[in-house]
Amino acid sequence: MDRRIKNIYAKLSEKSLQGLIVSWPANISYLTEYTSRDSYFLLSKKQNIYFTDSRYIEEAKGFLKGIAQIKRSNGSVFEAIAQACKSLGLKRIGFEERYLPFAEYKKIQEELNKSAKLVPTYGLVEGLRQIKDSEELKKIKKALKITREALKFIPDFIKPGKKEIEVAAELERFLRYSGARSGAFDLIVASGPNSSFPHHLTSQRKIGDNEPVLIDLGVDYLGYKSDLTRVFFSGKINSLVRSIYDIVLKAQERAISKIKPAVRISEIDAAARQYITRKGYGRFFGHNLGHGIGLEVHEEPHLSGKAQDKLMPGMVFTVEPGIYLPHKFGIRIEDMVLVTQKGCEVLSGAVYK
Ligand code: ZN
Ligand code: ZN
Repeated sequence: MDRRIKNIYAKLSEKSLQGLIVSWPANISYLTEYTSRDSYFLLSKKQNIYFTDSRYIEEAKGFLKGIAQIKRSNGSVFEAIAQACKSLGLKRIGFEERYLPFAEYKKIQEELNKSAKLVPTYGLVEGLRQIKDSEELKKIKKALKITREALKFIPDFIKPGKKEIEVAAELERFLRYSGARSGAFDLIVASGPNSSFPHHLTSQRKIGDNEPVLIDLGVDYLGYKSDLTRVFFSGKINSLVRSIYDIVLKAQERAISKIKPAVRISEIDAAARQYITRKGYGRFFGHNLGHGIGLEVHEEPHLSGKAQDKLMPGMVFTVEPGIYLPHKFGIRIEDMVLVTQKGCEVLSGAVYK
């Protein structure tokens, strides 16, 4: 049996649960190592069952051999899940409290009647997903390779008069031709004052002379995501932009230099934030320092000032300090880092300095 599923069995035993209904697609994909769509996954030591409809049955059969029984769920999937729980004799069944809508919970519990109890669980699969194995790292590295190549390719298109969406279209074409399934999210091309919105919606605006152009980009490679941000310039860089850029870069370096196992996550955020604050720009850095990344662009661990958990080898996350000056411009530099046994590795490497 697959190691990931065994790990979940162990967690279920700790909580005296005999089964778990997994409804979050990324969690199902992680456990089955198959890109799951429109499905539910019932895990139990007696039998794992994958519920999906006729669109995916044939594909799923091929991928899930030896992992799960496939049940066609045209009709009521909730009835099918409850029936399966009953026939396996499960009495305490966990569900993902964040991802099973209340209406669905009610339907399953009603079908189960009094034969079994649904028990809320939090982050069981997400906890495991924080630590990447070698197969996952290979995919993440490939996603990053494509992203880095795209960022090397794009400067030629960043010229005064080009529209943000034209730059975005060039990037998208490049990504797909390079083997990415798709972008990991709507990529961001933010020119001039638009770069002061941390998550700007790429627009029709034409790039002006001597402006910063912030590009935030990621791809999906076999389900795994990348996420990098770089700032380019359409000409000369004025001294304010240059000094802010240097502060952001140093803040990022300070944070990265602290990354190693057993360090509290909040300390990594603090390393960057304190530096930016000392330089007088603390109130212009509103978001967290970074986020875990893997099957989802944003996953555990979240690098915030409140995160009390400690870093562990195998975690992969972004480190992305930013300073955003309203109506002027914004600078963010985002890289992806792997926690190793002794320290860390910047997986995205230097795209440029
Ligand atoms: Zn990003
Ligand atoms: Zn990010």
